[in-house]
This record gives sequence, structure tokens and C-alpha cells, in this order.
Amino acid sequence: MDTERTAADVFRLLSDEIRLDILRTVARAQHENRETGVTELSFSDIYERVDVDGTSKLSYHLGELTGTFLRKHENGYAFTHAGEQLVRFVLAENYRHPAAVGPIETDGTCLHCGEAGLHATLHDQYFLLQCPACERPSFSYNVTPAQVQAHDGPALIDAVIGDLAGDLLKMRQGVCPDCAGRIDTEVFDAREVPVGNTVPASFATSSECKQCLRFLSLPLTHAAAYHPESVVFHWKHGVDIMGTGLWEFHHHLHDGQWTADRVDTDPDEYRVELRRDSASLRLYLDEDAAVTRTEHVKQRDQNDRRSR
Ligand SMILES: [Zn+2]
Ligand SMILES: [Zn+2]
Repeated sequence: MDTERTAADVFRLLSDEIRLDILRTVARAQHENRETGVTELSFSDIYERVDVDGTSKLSYHLGELTGTFLRKHENGYAFTHAGEQLVRFVLAENYRHPAAVGPIETDGTCLHCGEAGLHATLHDQYFLLQCPACERPSFSYNVTPAQVQAHDGPALIDAVIGDLAGDLLKMRQGVCPDCAGRIDTEVFDAREVPVGNTVPASFATSSECKQCLRFLSLPLTHAAAYHPESVVFHWKHGVDIMGTGLWEFHHHLHDGQWTADRVDTDPDEYRVELRRDSASLRLYLDEDAAVTRTEHVKQRDQNDRRSR
């Protein structure tokens, strides 16, 4: 039974050029047939396309792949979920070393010292924004070799922004961007953790997937900025949140325009205020960083608040 296969068994199955070739062949055939919607490739079609020594050998290799990476249907072979994931990884050659990048000068402000002008590079194969002033890493994120190959210079920055915005949207819905399992988010007091002393954020979110162990931590203000109400609020003020690098929000923490406070305990309630021009959006969040209500604050209220 394939359900009893261990990860080691599964990877051992792939350590064979013919089997990898079969998987690539099925993917290419699906791509060629995309207009007809036919996703299966027959035994004879595979035999025609793959360089294999006789039908019995092909039959053996297909048998090994079936159940884990391929499914056998009446009309031929198609991918299982694992096969689909694996073949995309192989075709994109995401197992290679990414090419060197940068430094690319980019907009945004250092989370630690507030200086503008960050430099983007790849460091240990991770996208890293380094602050030239304090030399500390201001932001890092995973990039794939395919991403680096397909996008150059500022276009790579845009690709990282798009990828990150997509990941954050999924996380907001409790969906892990890597395995699509469940991701849980909670709010914590950033001043109580060691790194908290070096950043101006008061509260932060911690999101983690118990299945694949993916995790991400963000200032609470930044997490709240992806709420639809904030996306609309900023859009009306000429800012496309989904197309802006998270690091471009850092200066709002340094200049006090974006703030997060705990307004209630037991259960904890937080208020994030995002100010723009003379307007302001308040978002109230529970301890899981879910927005429970929002309010727009007019200029007059702002002046009242400031004079208090
Ligand atoms: Zn700095
Ligand atoms: Zn996951």
C-alpha cells in the first residue's frame, strides 16, 4: 500500500533518470493538450516519448511511480498531488543554485535604525534587504531559483512583493502558503522578545503551520495593513498595499504614523491605527489577529486626539 511508504521510500523511487523523464513527459503532454483538457497520457504515448529499453521496462517504471506520483486511469496516466508538486519543482529546476543578485537599491526603510535606501541581495539563497547604515538585515524572504532566473533587477523586487502579498493573503485566511494546511496566528508583545529592543513595533504576529512548520512573524500593524478595509483605504490615498514591499511600511513605525496598542485584556483586544494624510483607519483585532471591526477617523477627531 502506498500509504505505508515512508519519505525515504518515496524519494528512492525518484532516483532514476527514466522515472523523472516519465514525469516530465506527462507534464509536457498535459501542457500540449491544455486546450482539449485531456490530462492523461496513454502507455503507448509515454513509450513513444520516453527513451526506454522496451515496453516491459517502461511497464516496470510506471508501476513503481503509480500510486505515489502517478494515477492510472482507463485512458492512461495522470499526476497525483505529490507527482504534480514534484514535477513542477523539477521542471522549474528549483533544486539548482540561484544566480547571484544585486545589490539592487530599493525603496523602503530599515526596521531597526529608520534609514532609507535598502540594498537587496541573495544571502544564503534567501532574498535579503540589508541596511547600508547599520548593516543589519532589515527583511528576508525565501526566493526560488526560478524566480531569480525569470526576474531581473527591480522586476525581482516586484516578484518578491507579489509572492509575499499572496502568502500573506493566504495566511490571513488561515491557509499555509506552502502546504495549504492550517496556519495559526497569534499576537504577542514584541517588547518581550530579544529582537523587540531593536525594532519600534510594540505588538507583532506569529503565524505557524503545525504540519510543514512554516512560520512568519510580522509587526501587527503590517499584518493588519493587508485587511481589505486597509487595502481600500490606502488605495483611495494612492497606495497599492498589495504592490508595496512590506519593508516600505517600516518608516510608518519610526514616524509614529502606524501604531498598535492593547486596548483590552481577558480576552486581549488590540487596536491598530494606520494614518495617511489627514485621515486614519482603526482596526480592532482579537488575540488571533483577526480583525473584528474597523472605524474611519475623520480629520477633526485626529486633531482632538493629537491635542489631548
Ligand atoms: Zn539600519
Ligand atoms: Zn504548511
